[in-house]
Amino acid sequence: MAFELIVKNASLPDGRAGQDIAVADGRIAAVEPGIGAEARRVIDAAGRLVAPPFVDCHFHMDATLSLGLPRMNQSGTLLEGIALWGELKPLLTHDAVIERALRYCDLAVSQGLLAVRSHVDVCDDRLLAVEALIEVRERVKPYLDLQLVAFPQDGYYRSPTAVRNLERALDLGVDVVGGIPHFERTMADGAASVRALCEIAAARGLLVDLHCDESDDPLSRHIETLAAETVRLGLQGRVAGSHLTSMHSMDNYYVSKLLPLMKEAGVAAIANPLINITLQGRHDTYPRRRGLTRIPEMRALGIPVALGQDCCMDPWYGLGDADMLDVANMAVHAVPMTSREAIRWSFEAVTTVPASILGLEGYGLDVGCNADFVLLQAADPIEAVRLRAQRLAVVRRGKVIAEAPARIATLALEGRPARVDAADYAPRASA
Ligand SMILES: [Zn+2]
Repeated sequence: MAFELIVKNASLPDGRAGQDIAVADGRIAAVEPGIGAEARRVIDAAGRLVAPPFVDCHFHMDATLSLGLPRMNQSGTLLEGIALWGELKPLLTHDAVIERALRYCDLAVSQGLLAVRSHVDVCDDRLLAVEALIEVRERVKPYLDLQLVAFPQDGYYRSPTAVRNLERALDLGVDVVGGIPHFERTMADGAASVRALCEIAAARGLLVDLHCDESDDPLSRHIETLAAETVRLGLQGRVAGSHLTSMHSMDNYYVSKLLPLMKEAGVAAIANPLINITLQGRHDTYPRRRGLTRIPEMRALGIPVALGQDCCMDPWYGLGDADMLDVANMAVHAVPMTSREAIRWSFEAVTTVPASILGLEGYGLDVGCNADFVLLQAADPIEAVRLRAQRLAVVRRGKVIAEAPARIATLALEGRPARVDAADYAPRASA
């Protein structure tokens, strides 16, 4: 029997080297050294890293690539971004949202990013973006898993029609219940929204992912209510709190109570370092807060923590290119967390951890998993984060769906090498 594909001599994220990966029927059929069988296509990994695809567990696909529409965010601030989104929303068309989302997915695939959880704003009574992204979800299904979150951007209670629109969006087939408790008019409204949204998820058997405490206000404590409601409604393992930046500013004593509550509830945390580092602390003079949530402390307790991209070339963030290694790299710097173990973990935080938060089936490099993986121009996960490594090949269900040449420069320097590959600069001693 001929395999569809064999990747030769791969290094794996768990440290195994010299592995061949054989693919049959779109699934991983074998992972072992020296597979001698025939294959329709053979890729020589040459010792480089093969990893499962990147997963972005926090994104806004209805806004992506809208930078400059209808005008640029000149100040680069959150407030101008919100104003811009308000100007753009009435101008959105079904086809334009689809076109931008598909174009973004092209970029994502080229970066080995094959699963995205996107929040979609339900505060537009037309539910135009919801319908457009549901169509996109179907169209990209062969190459990218898109999970949608019903997100009341202007507040579940604060926006006059969000309560009804959120249910309408779920009826249309949106996958996950979203919210934004810190943006409601009062703390009490925020807590009430958390309760109501968790009850909707419990009744419908859905996952929950709230924009939660995306604020520098140490008294923004909706994550506490989210954890308590998760326990009360038996939603353990199905709930994520996104951002959680107020935790950065909270009193240590309070956090020492809060984190065990999150652990008990099995609530996952999603930090978005590119955006949190740019949007938080903006009312501060000096010293200026960084505004990332407490990633090392949550990890130490065993709370699942993943990293999301949040934005890419939209009213809130003019940069980004669907590169989850950029997200991991930013987290390493901004937290900061520079131990070898933590840098290695940052790679998991954009692959395996978000895959489990999304509940992706068949994800991973074990025999029987979907044959979805990425060949990177790097020796191991730490090197991949250091280099924001080139994606040499992206494989979905055993087929190569994106390829790029290795990033190598030629040099014209007397007495020096003729070519430079940054991946060759990997430290000799591994781990
Ligand atoms: Zn967001």
